[in-house]
Amino acid sequence: MRDFRVRKKLRGMKSFSYGARSALAQKNAVRQAAIVFASTHEGVVITDTDSRIIAVNPAFLAITGYSEAELLGEGMRILHSGRQAPEFYERMWRSIIEEGRWHGEIWNRRKCGEIYLEWLTISAVRNGAGQVVNYVGVFTDITGLIKRFEDELERIAHHDQLTDLPNRLLLLSRLEQAMTQAARSNKAGAVLFIDLDRFKDVNNSLGHPAGDELLKLVGRRLREKLSPTDTLARLGGDEFVVVLDELSHPEDAGRVADQLINELSDRPFALAGGREVVLGASIGIAVFPQDGESPHDLLQHADAALQEAKGHGRATYRFYSAALTEAASARLEMEMRLRRALEHDEFVLHYQPLVSLADGKVTGVEALVRWQDPQIGLVPPDRFIPLAEETGLIIPLGEWVLRTACMQMKKWLTVDACIKSVAVNLSARQFQQSDIHERVRAILTETALPGHCLELEITESALLQLDRVISLKIACLKALGVTMAIDDFGAGYSSLAYLKKFPIDKLKIDRSFVRDAPKDATDMQIIVAIIALARALGLQVLAEGVETQAQLDALKQHGCDMAQGYLFGRPLPEAELAIMLGIGQDSAPPLDRMPTVDAPLARQCPP
Ligand code: C2E
Ligand code: CA
Ligand code: CA
Repeated sequence: MRDFRVRKKLRGMKSFSYGARSALAQKNAVRQAAIVFASTHEGVVITDTDSRIIAVNPAFLAITGYSEAELLGEGMRILHSGRQAPEFYERMWRSIIEEGRWHGEIWNRRKCGEIYLEWLTISAVRNGAGQVVNYVGVFTDITGLIKRFEDELERIAHHDQLTDLPNRLLLLSRLEQAMTQAARSNKAGAVLFIDLDRFKDVNNSLGHPAGDELLKLVGRRLREKLSPTDTLARLGGDEFVVVLDELSHPEDAGRVADQLINELSDRPFALAGGREVVLGASIGIAVFPQDGESPHDLLQHADAALQEAKGHGRATYRFYSAALTEAASARLEMEMRLRRALEHDEFVLHYQPLVSLADGKVTGVEALVRWQDPQIGLVPPDRFIPLAEETGLIIPLGEWVLRTACMQMKKWLTVDACIKSVAVNLSARQFQQSDIHERVRAILTETALPGHCLELEITESALLQLDRVISLKIACLKALGVTMAIDDFGAGYSSLAYLKKFPIDKLKIDRSFVRDAPKDATDMQIIVAIIALARALGLQVLAEGVETQAQLDALKQHGCDMAQGYLFGRPLPEAELAIMLGIGQDSAPPLDRMPTVDAPLARQCPP
């Protein structure tokens, strides 16, 4: 329909002069022109001598966003952006009138209001008598072209030509952003100044093209090792700089430095022509906020640290502050030992009784991990769990704990001990695994333990994922028969919302509230409130860290269901716990004569 109209209009334009061609040839030419008009990517507009639109092609509609009906009969002013002064249009018209043509750039406005740049050619169309009968405008939208050109200029200005990595300019601006962000979020960040050991030898002996090739490969290898949010820049020569942000511990920058040094030196670089080059690197680290107030300061200090590193025999890193260098190597050493401990089976579980306050019976235990270090002796979990969480070692360690606790629980089941369930701490990182329920299921199957004999303790920090993800995970775990407890309740976010949202079974009141109860009135009020909250939501409630009879009396008085603490028993190795509870002994006390809160276990067990 539109094609037909366009063709009719074109046919009406007597000004397309085809000379003495035959009528048939003329007809063909008109048809061809119509096809071009309809299919070209350039916008085409035909106006009368008053600049009123009489025909537009589909590209014109696509570029301007108007419909044909909105345009026909309108003046060309409909597209004016206001960006050009009236003199611009005067000059344009003078050129069209005097020379029959004008071309140039012009800013116009789309229907949506967006301004765009077009490359426009306007031609006057004359009839046989030389009178102007129409104007034809043909234009291309060059906004995208300009944008691409500007982007390219921007990229060139901010990137190193050779490696395409950010250059000093972009590095400084990224560093400034990272510093601002770190100040806002109260976190640390670090600048790693990397210098390749022996690069100059390579450059001199193999030539500059080989040196360039090597730098590109180094840039690529470093980039692959870093996370996408870290900035890697090349300052020139063989100097690379990394910006790490959002570090929980500044010492962690040492770990990254160590990984980068290994990454560069572990494998040779393969250059064209089958040549291989082995490289080393030294790294200097400045940490923000403490090591500098401006990006320049930090770079300078990282450079100073780099000189230190080079002075220490290369292939090593140094912090600007000596204390951090020590702390970082201590952490690295600890991480290494932790890894070895896992391989050498140096962890053990101790079990602490969980007591029902209604009848004073031990109904379950909590499994608590310890590290039996051959040199140091028994290391408590607070000394290694945080590092295990940061390094990801908590995943294999946590699985070991879960498997060992389930195996132990299965043994208790077979000897018909009073222990009906074992509680295992799941770190947030473990709970965040998308297949956590599969892993738990596999261990239950492997150890042939019924799900209801396992309780999983998670802290509030584990619940900071998407609601539906948590709901699904908890539902899947509960489908296995497992019960879910919130550990250290009150010490974290204590949001009522998630207690209502997620199908949790138990709250464990954090030890910090129990410690000074019942003397401390505020702590006591909080305990009473948590018990009431648990009641209202139909949850069980357990008080942790009960050490005195007075604490126990107050908890019982306010209707707390369960308790755990030194008053009843410290965490003990399985064998000692068995003796304390009389498990597996002929003289085992019958269930109704199990140790009760009136005869606290603590008095029966070694200090
Ligand atoms: P938690 O889960 O709150 O464990 C209870 C801690 O309180 C245990 O410390 C226990 O020995 C201690 N405790 C029990 N009764 C009393 C008492 O009456 N008074 C005092 N002052 N303390 C008492 P522990 O065994 O040193 O564990 C510390 C933390 O380490 C645990 O706190 C838990 O967060 C973490 N943890 C322990 N084992 C594991 C594990 O297998 N996996 C994970 N992810 N974390 C674990
Ligand atoms: Ca716990
Ligand atoms: Ca706890």
